Amino acid sequence: MAGLILARAGVDVVVLEKHADFLRDFRGDTVHPSTLNLLDQLGLGAEASAIEHSELSTLDAVIDGIRVRAVDFTSLPAPHRYITLMPQWDLLSMLVTEAQKQPSFRLMLEANAHSVIQENGRVVGVEATTPDGPLRVNAVLTVAADGRTSAVRDSLGLVPADYGVPIDVLWFRVPRPTKPMRDTLANIRGGSALVTIPRPGYFQCGLLIRKGTFPEFQRAGITAFRCKIGSIAPRLTDVTAAISNFTDVKLLSVQINRLHQWSVPGALCIGDAAHAMSPAFGVGINYAIQDAVALANTLVPALRKQGADAAAIDSVCAAVQRRRALPTALMQRMQRVAHRLINSATSRTVVHNPPRLRERFVIAVVLPRIRPILARIVGYGFRPERIASGVLKPRR
Ligand SMILES: Cc1cc2nc3c(=O)[nH]c(=O)nc-3n(C[C@H](O)[C@H](O)[C@H](O)COP(=O)(O)OP(=O)(O)OC[C@H]3O[C@@H](n4cnc5c(N)ncnc54)[C@H](O)[C@@H]3O)c2cc1C
Repeated sequence: MAGLILARAGVDVVVLEKHADFLRDFRGDTVHPSTLNLLDQLGLGAEASAIEHSELSTLDAVIDGIRVRAVDFTSLPAPHRYITLMPQWDLLSMLVTEAQKQPSFRLMLEANAHSVIQENGRVVGVEATTPDGPLRVNAVLTVAADGRTSAVRDSLGLVPADYGVPIDVLWFRVPRPTKPMRDTLANIRGGSALVTIPRPGYFQCGLLIRKGTFPEFQRAGITAFRCKIGSIAPRLTDVTAAISNFTDVKLLSVQINRLHQWSVPGALCIGDAAHAMSPAFGVGINYAIQDAVALANTLVPALRKQGADAAAIDSVCAAVQRRRALPTALMQRMQRVAHRLINSATSRTVVHNPPRLRERFVIAVVLPRIRPILARIVGYGFRPERIASGVLKPRR
């Protein structure tokens, strides 16, 4: 997204991607109203809705058989009163197709950035390995957008502070049962939590487990695993046979961390490289995109006014951190609270079946009042970004 907006602003951009394509399933697939609004701003709304996707206007949890509506996006302003779920590789491929219409954009696949180039205490580019040999890219600004295991960040000597997360996620898919059923994001029963993300034709599922306990599941065997899924979400019992063995189940380690300092002279970290987000609320992609927009909004005017002036570039980097650090810290705080709630929901009964008086009051009176607030926070994040006017040149 940063590459696309900068290229659309007429800035020369080289994007290095270490893989040969974007076809990987581990980075989530929620696209929130904040990002849908940005895609509209870029004139890509129609292209985005042409990608096969599902739309969720509410986020429901079924806790020990009681359905609780946690978030209702229908209270948001039109047109995007929902989140979409679309394969991230399709979204990225669409952004790349659009960016490649700009002569100032270049994508280099299979280019594994491993270290920055420094001159007189300033980063002046990056070195990468490619199938054709070593590659050196000189840049007035090097942006580390290479995710939570960022090699570029490591070579800058920046170390994120880690906020220990007690859970991992086991990620797998099952076909949609033939019987129509209401969309349910979280299923909590008998001390276990299962996320079920509807995708066309199947559910992308995530079983939350205590960190480091995947080997215990493997030892118990795939039949026990299938039974566990069926016991948490009984409506999936008939389709769990599709999980044939543990190669169908991917372990995803959940992290929350962030840098205290996002930049050094000549280089800036954004997205998960600056702040790894937990999957809670599915906001990581959108937060990474918000960073990209904040970067473009500050960098483009600076480049137009002051050219490649080093001090101007460094103050852009500091401004991006100033703008995005607080929204990130607030969202990560919310994610940590969500982890604690999940933890307590899986270790004690939070809603009885049938609900007790106090629980009925929370479900019927308290939740409806906070739902619109939750919809804004989850849908837009704290301090949502818009592409500033004048940044984009007319579309080609
Ligand atoms: C289990 C799990 C589920 C999640 N689900 C969701 C969800 O549903 N919705 C959501 O919004 N967020 C979700 N998240 C969080 C989300 O994945 C991240 O916050 C988001 O992908 C960050 O985007 P990014 O562009 O910063 O990094 P990434 O998406 O990690 O992208 C980094 C890119 O850089 C490339 N790269 C890495 N190293 C190099 C290198 N050395 N040289 C060149 N290229 C390199 C990678 O191949 C990749 O393409 C989830 C996270 C986890 C762990």
